[in-house]
Amino acid sequence: MNYNKKSIEDIDVSGKRVLCRCDFNVPTKNGVITSDKRIVAAMPTIRYLVEHNAKVILCSHMGKPKGEYKSELSLKVVADRLSQLLGKEVVMASDVAGEDAKAKAAALNDGDVMLLENTRFEKGETKNDPALSKALASMADIFVNDAFGTAHRAHASTAGVADYLPAVSGFLVQKEVSIMGKALADPERPFVAILGGAKVSDKLNVINNLLEKVDTLIIGGGMAYTFQAAKGCTVGKSLLDESKIDYCKEMMAKAEAKGVKLLLPVDVVVADSFPSPIDGPIAVSTVNADAIPDDKEGLDIGEKTCALFADAVKNAKTVVWNGPMGVFENPTLAKGTIAMAQALADSDAVTIVGGGDSAAACEQLGFADKITHISTGGGASLEFLEGLELPGIACLEDK
Ligand code: ADP
Ligand code: MG
Repeated sequence: MNYNKKSIEDIDVSGKRVLCRCDFNVPTKNGVITSDKRIVAAMPTIRYLVEHNAKVILCSHMGKPKGEYKSELSLKVVADRLSQLLGKEVVMASDVAGEDAKAKAAALNDGDVMLLENTRFEKGETKNDPALSKALASMADIFVNDAFGTAHRAHASTAGVADYLPAVSGFLVQKEVSIMGKALADPERPFVAILGGAKVSDKLNVINNLLEKVDTLIIGGGMAYTFQAAKGCTVGKSLLDESKIDYCKEMMAKAEAKGVKLLLPVDVVVADSFPSPIDGPIAVSTVNADAIPDDKEGLDIGEKTCALFADAVKNAKTVVWNGPMGVFENPTLAKGTIAMAQALADSDAVTIVGGGDSAAACEQLGFADKITHISTGGGASLEFLEGLELPGIACLEDK
């Protein structure tokens, strides 16, 4: 996949109708937005378009209305918040690409902003129906994709519409593609990847693809135990995917054949069982990773492992991290994840964090501003790391 894509700075938007796909899939409670982070994140692109005299037609999905109008999933609340942030009116359409949207789009003046209704109110959205793509395209002269979180979906408003309009990236997508694309295509070395999280099976293809690219692969979190079991160690009651033991053996052999250093935990923080509630008090001890007692469950990496992993990060020039090192939702079991976040924060490398929980961990733990790039897309960033082509990016014009 070519990661060198045109952005809004590479084309003339002045006087043009620009359909801009954003990620306004914000959490709401009783009709009130509980976090406007995604709206705020989209502002640089929107402001650029307004300042460059485009006629701006914004669109997004929210939630899963499954092709029907649902008042609680109307984007009207987003239009109101956008209007506050921009300090100007944001015209709300009552449909996605119907009569009202078309009439309002046609009436826009240069620098005006409107928002279409939730794209998933249309059945054609998730089916990537050409009829919907055409209807969306008919309102505009240019398509801008600034929604990385849905870039791995081939939907009408994320990819289909690009069949009918010149398509470029907004600033958010440009940042994701340029930083992660560079890391995967032409990384500064040493390149270290850290994988964690709950399941090996979620990240099978990521492991396989990263072994083609990295100098060191670190595996922690719940996925480490299947690797330990593959080495013949006992893992007690820890997370284990028996059906993936052979796969882990294969990956260890691949690492060896490629000269990739594969690091696994050497010590583990264990408890009698998984914490319940997840953030409740818990009694823990630390044991060697190759001898977890039968009645114990591994829930975080131990101190020696923290030091080992941090040391591997120290001389890296590129670091990609996906998946927490332990059950970080519990303060007693967050130490391994904090240690990795600290190692990334202290490093001079280009540091990239992808994955919903890892990104949340970095933010909650206060490391976000010391990381080069925290991806805004969980599923999309995983597919990126798997080396897959993302339809919402592949559809953009090459530079
Ligand atoms: P991401 O969203 O960053 O890709 P995942 O969704 O794969 O990460 O995994 C995150 C989850 O993994 C967290 O909820 C965390 O509690 C869990 N986890 C991490 N280590 C362990 C472990 N040793 N045992 C059980 N669950 C774990
Ligand atoms: Mg997750």
